[in-house]
Amino acid sequence: MVTERITRRTRRRTTTSPASRYLVGGVNSPVRAFRHVQAEPLQLVGGQGAVVRDTAGRRYVDFIMGWGTLLLGHRPPAVVRALSRAMERDILLGLTHPAETELAQLICEAVPSVERVRFTVSGTEACMTAVRLARAATGRSKILTFDGCYHGHGDSLMAGTTAGIPEAWLADTLRVPFNDPRALDTTLRREGERLACVMIEPIPANTGVLVPEAGFLQRLRALTQEYGILLVFDEVVTGFRVGPGGAQGRYGIRPDLTTFGKIIGGGLPIGALGGSASLMQRLAPDGDVYHGGTFAGHPLSMAAGIATLRALRVAPPYARLERLTQRLADGLAKAAARHGGASSCNWAGSMVTVFFSGRPVRDAAAAQASDRARFAQWANALRAQGVLVPPSPFEALFLSTTHTEAHVERLVRASHAAWSKV
Ligand SMILES: *Cc1c(COP(=O)(O)O)cnc(C)c1O
Repeated sequence: MVTERITRRTRRRTTTSPASRYLVGGVNSPVRAFRHVQAEPLQLVGGQGAVVRDTAGRRYVDFIMGWGTLLLGHRPPAVVRALSRAMERDILLGLTHPAETELAQLICEAVPSVERVRFTVSGTEACMTAVRLARAATGRSKILTFDGCYHGHGDSLMAGTTAGIPEAWLADTLRVPFNDPRALDTTLRREGERLACVMIEPIPANTGVLVPEAGFLQRLRALTQEYGILLVFDEVVTGFRVGPGGAQGRYGIRPDLTTFGKIIGGGLPIGALGGSASLMQRLAPDGDVYHGGTFAGHPLSMAAGIATLRALRVAPPYARLERLTQRLADGLAKAAARHGGASSCNWAGSMVTVFFSGRPVRDAAAAQASDRARFAQWANALRAQGVLVPPSPFEALFLSTTHTEAHVERLVRASHAAWSKV
């Protein structure tokens, strides 16, 4: 979870790695810092399929997978080919390129609530733009998000969870617990008419995986409609991962706006915002809400994204991935039970989190209450056995189409060995 990444506890330990001579903390994103597991940042130099290699030549089965980006694994041949073909034409053109329309069409055809797309360079930027658009479209300034959901590092969306945001803004960002319809009802009764949008990760992956309870997202859709609030699904992780239509396809819910990122760029920087034509046309140049970018719709990101979404359309991997993920979740739970460790395992689609906690984890508070020291021992023991999981108890493990039963068995076996030490 993002707030956890920046508390004193995680800040205290400064790195001694050579990288920290030139990079803050030796990294460019705090999730890469390994402070939750009391280790130096791991530097990787290469990857293929489900396996990555570090600077010392050690190999690991990777369950980080670009934080959910690499659904087709590292260096999928179709993406590598598409990139080299695109580079023969140019690297950056600076005007519009036909590939932008093609990727937008692939997204619109898979996700019915999306009629128009605007590409950005990151998921952060897509979420910031969604908030601006929602504020303009409703004439309201407040927004509501959920504890533990992460929507990138834009000011409005991070208000209250990082230093450096004006005090006056704090009152405009409201938060309620995930999976708590009563807190949602109460807050909307009080503030509903002042809210521009509610933004949610429909299946949160940024406090570890949380699974929405029956009826929760439906209730959210009904309430936002009642109060004239725009519902924004942040599908930066779930888009094209939990099914071709994302979480909204899975749960049969039509949000007003959707943000994408990660998978749709095939490993290159990307984000996207989509929604109905009428709403999206508030964006410049059709409308009065500004968004633009030198690299928005970058030809290489488009090429990698098109190759990825085409591959997913031609051979949908979702049923197989889900079986494999269930097998992993069962294996991890059994390993824990066998060795007497209290744990609970949340999974959805092709993402899993093991929480070292004796009770079910249905919200961020429960995730935060899990045993972090045991997590660190477990993650470090896995790494010593050549299995790489996210170095934080508040992240998801991701599977790709290149993960096999053997990879999953390897993690389960390593986990048996690790649990016995924890
Ligand atoms: C990664 C992520 C973002 C931010 O995307 P970036 O490309 O890292 O800026 C936004 N929302 C969710 C749900 C994410 O997981």
